Amino acid sequence: MTEINIRGIEIRTLLAKAKVQSVIHSQDPDEFNGHHLEFEAFLEAQALGYQEYRTRVIEDVPGLFIGEPGLIEAWRMGWSSAAELDEIRHCSSCQTAAGDPCPYHG
Ligand SMILES: [Zn+2]
Repeated sequence: MTEINIRGIEIRTLLAKAKVQSVIHSQDPDEFNGHHLEFEAFLEAQALGYQEYRTRVIEDVPGLFIGEPGLIEAWRMGWSSAAELDEIRHCSSCQTAAGDPCPYHG
């Protein structure tokens, strides 16, 4: 069987599952309601954004995230935190500050 690898499909599927769970359990507030799955999907989206910044292959949000502002925001957060770390890593003022970020990055 051919493995189909569409960017972000697992994360998008996870969010879909979370939404279905929320509907199924919406009448029962004490039961599992899908919120932790949703949170997991956002964490995964953030990790993907981080990772994709590091690999520098892709510079835009996965197409499957379109229509899901939470996933897009999480992906962008991951992307920008990787970018920020990269910037600090290459900032000469941060390097000479011996562990503390420079005034600009602090
Ligand atoms: Zn700096």
